[in-house]
Amino acid sequence: PLVLGIETSCDETGIGIVRGRTLLSNTIASSMDEHARYGGVVPEVAARAHLEALQPAIEAALAEAQVSLADLDAIAVTSGPGLAGALMVGVGAAKGLAVSLNKPLYAVNHLVGHIAADIVTPESDPLEYPTIALLVSGGHTSLLHVRDLTTDVELLGETIDDAAGEAFDKVARLLSLPYPGGPEIDRAAVGGDPKAIRFPRGLSKGTDMAKHRYDFSFSGLKTAVARWVERAEAEGVPVPVADVAASFREAVVDVLVTKALAACADRGVPRLLLGGGVIANRRLREVALERAAAAGVTVRIPPLSLCTDNGAMIAALAADLIASGRRPSTLAFGADSTLPVTEIQVAERTED
Ligand code: ATP
Ligand code: MG
Ligand code: FE
Repeated sequence: PLVLGIETSCDETGIGIVRGRTLLSNTIASSMDEHARYGGVVPEVAARAHLEALQPAIEAALAEAQVSLADLDAIAVTSGPGLAGALMVGVGAAKGLAVSLNKPLYAVNHLVGHIAADIVTPESDPLEYPTIALLVSGGHTSLLHVRDLTTDVELLGETIDDAAGEAFDKVARLLSLPYPGGPEIDRAAVGGDPKAIRFPRGLSKGTDMAKHRYDFSFSGLKTAVARWVERAEAEGVPVPVADVAASFREAVVDVLVTKALAACADRGVPRLLLGGGVIANRRLREVALERAAAAGVTVRIPPLSLCTDNGAMIAALAADLIASGRRPSTLAFGADSTLPVTEIQVAERTED
């Protein structure tokens, strides 16, 4: 099926068009620059930016795919999780399109969309099940057991406070680096010693690890960096930014990879899928590949353009739902900012 996907859960207005699993176009407009001076995404600003960007993005995606609205077999949209106001703009637009064009509508889960990024061809060969998936972005840090993309996604654990990308953004701010902080810390860490400072690995030891085997916590790490920087400043010594950045990054990467591979071992699943914007981190990819190889685990990483928020992954997920015989969604759904990952599609029609 020819599917147009709409993604507006955070600060990217993503419109993607796929035919089955084949990518035809993937247009992304980001309001990231508008959030830069606040050091993080401002929900109202993001929602307004989606409103302005949607129409041109849809036109650009159609033009690039060389199809017209009438050609579409279905519309797909992110229903949640994400920022309520931002989601609402996409949901409203998708409903409007579906009703006016009289096309079926599929309301889907954003996080499962991140997994679907891996089925978009020609970049990848078929995704094999089951797989453990680690999704790391500015808003999420989730560890999933995926038995089937369209029917069976289990949440193993997630962050209990900050998301990994959020931690990068906050620590960058502490080091007076611009937003978004992830790429800045990656750059600042070049030449730094990752072992210079032993920052805490959240929920990784003793009873914490026993209780939160697959959960993450990054707020303690952020506080530890803040204390370290404060102490250096109080003592009047220049902050060794490269060492702090490298040591912080190492702590984040260490926990992410350790817990993901623990899930692979516990569940007897020799496959790990990585997704989300933080996968752009070079050290994370390096450590994941190294340690997974040693553990006999195969790692899959979608192209980075599909790892950050985009509409193609939403369209591809809907195309797979259609291929597996799922009915479209009714209009009885809205933006669900806390949609659980187990709800792959929302408001599926119960009869034809
Ligand atoms: P969502 O959580 O809904 O996916 P998002 O827009 O916050 O939304 P992404 O766009 O997928 O998420 O990713 C952005 C995040 O990724 C930011 O927090 C950014 O700092 C982080 N990031 C980007 N590049 C890197 C990098 N090289 N290293 C670490 N973090 C990075
Ligand atoms: Mg983003
Ligand atoms: Fe996302």
